[in-house]
Amino acid sequence: MWFLPFQEEYLFEIERDGVAVVTNPKGIKYHVNIWDRPRGVCTCYNYVKAGGNYRGRCKHLIWLLQSYICPDCGNRMLLESTGRYYECPNQGCRFSVGYDSRLVYHIRSINRKELRNVRSN
Ligand SMILES: [Zn+2]
Ligand SMILES: [Zn+2]
Repeated sequence: MWFLPFQEEYLFEIERDGVAVVTNPKGIKYHVNIWDRPRGVCTCYNYVKAGGNYRGRCKHLIWLLQSYICPDCGNRMLLESTGRYYECPNQGCRFSVGYDSRLVYHIRSINRKELRNVRSN
């Protein structure tokens, strides 16, 4: 996966793991969902018109893939620059988990199943 440094001017409101509303510096909001279609979906211009700059993904999708909800405190964990670990920014928590860890795969595969079940109902 690509690693893109986060730009702090973009605000993330994470609904649940992999689903968020991102607000850009001009105040425009995008709906981002990493579970929709094989590579995720975003409502930004770059994704809709150009199919994303990063092999079918836009930067909002990459950033959301680089974010993970801390299982201990609920904070947004960020992928550190080697791309190997998510780290919780909460000083009192400091939970970290590998990007390829079983925990992350397990929780994310459950989310995928939930989404499929919602759709087929
Ligand atoms: Zn986007
Ligand atoms: Zn935490």
